[in-house]
Amino acid sequence: MTREKIINGDDDDSWENEQDSVEESLNADPGLATAALAEDSNLRPSRLDEMIGQMDVKERLQIAIDAAKRRGESLGHILFDGPPGLGKTTFATVIPQEMNVPVEFLSGPVLKAPKDLIPCLTNLVAHQVLFIDEIHRIPKAVEEYLYTAMEDFRIDMVIGEGINARTHSFQLRPFTLIGATTRAGMLSGPLRDRFQIREHLGYYSHSELQQIIHRNATILKVKVEAEAAAEIAGRSRGTPRVANNRLRWIRDYAQSRANGLVSLEVARDAMRMVKIDELGLDHQDRSYLEVLIRICGGGPTGIETIAATMNVATDTLTDDVEPFLLRSELILRTPRGRVATPKAFSHLKLPPPPGPGADQKTLFD
Ligand code: ADP
Repeated sequence: MTREKIINGDDDDSWENEQDSVEESLNADPGLATAALAEDSNLRPSRLDEMIGQMDVKERLQIAIDAAKRRGESLGHILFDGPPGLGKTTFATVIPQEMNVPVEFLSGPVLKAPKDLIPCLTNLVAHQVLFIDEIHRIPKAVEEYLYTAMEDFRIDMVIGEGINARTHSFQLRPFTLIGATTRAGMLSGPLRDRFQIREHLGYYSHSELQQIIHRNATILKVKVEAEAAAEIAGRSRGTPRVANNRLRWIRDYAQSRANGLVSLEVARDAMRMVKIDELGLDHQDRSYLEVLIRICGGGPTGIETIAATMNVATDTLTDDVEPFLLRSELILRTPRGRVATPKAFSHLKLPPPPGPGADQKTLFD
């Protein structure tokens, strides 16, 4: 978790839980918590050339940054979309550094009314970057202020009521809005069209994750053998944030149980202890597959049935669990419901069932 996210907040459950635990640790020992936060931000690259992977995105941004600097203008507004943990906030940290301008971090869910956004816009200094995380969660009434702000660096406010109502225009200093979203499809057309640069962040390759693990192991001052880094990368779901979390746990385990050296065996033992398997599936992913296969016979099964059986929110499954299971070809989303693939059966060491399960096999053979 980043320091910026702590300052700005976010109101989903996982965030609240995370925030609670940060607050608890702040109460428990301010010194320790500050050290942990500092360490977290240490792992975040601060320049474009320190970022690993996303080569095309980096190249296009570098061109836009160079050109804007040469012209002495603000960079065009940028929208990043992609699943959590792939580097949207990192890009929003790096770009202002490259442009040599300040940045203000906001989060969509805290912008509940125009009064939450307007002071931020009017206080921006020339060419500053304004970063809005989870921008799809801004209410319509707030979003409308962004239209003229982004297009003409102006906001129009109605002051007074009834026949005394007057529209006043405020000129803003030129700025760059960087928006980040995990749900590009939920962004309204007018807002999406006002971003001059739109970048989708994809998952990282095995070798990119290995590089990230080696880089961060050096920062965390832990020695990780090459085979161990490869193993951690393979269980990190293509996501740098997951790789960082795995690495931190394995470092703790190695320091407590193995004199601090992360060998292949230590990495495997540490991940076994927190129930992360060879594919990178965690306890919740495997419960999902268990419900779908053992209770529902492999599907097709509605998502609500799976959620009710697991006693978790449907959104948690669709947002946090299913994307990785789909990507790993362990489940299919069909119009009739979720279906476990033969790979899921064999991952749980179960024979595929006769009937629909057996038919699907031909799809994958
Ligand atoms: P998002 O905002 O998309 O949820 P973040 O930008 O917060 O993701 O990334 C999470 C962490 O992953 C960062 O703190 C950083 O350590 C690491 N990370 C992300 N992208 C990269 C990258 N391209 N190179 C190196 N580390 C990265």
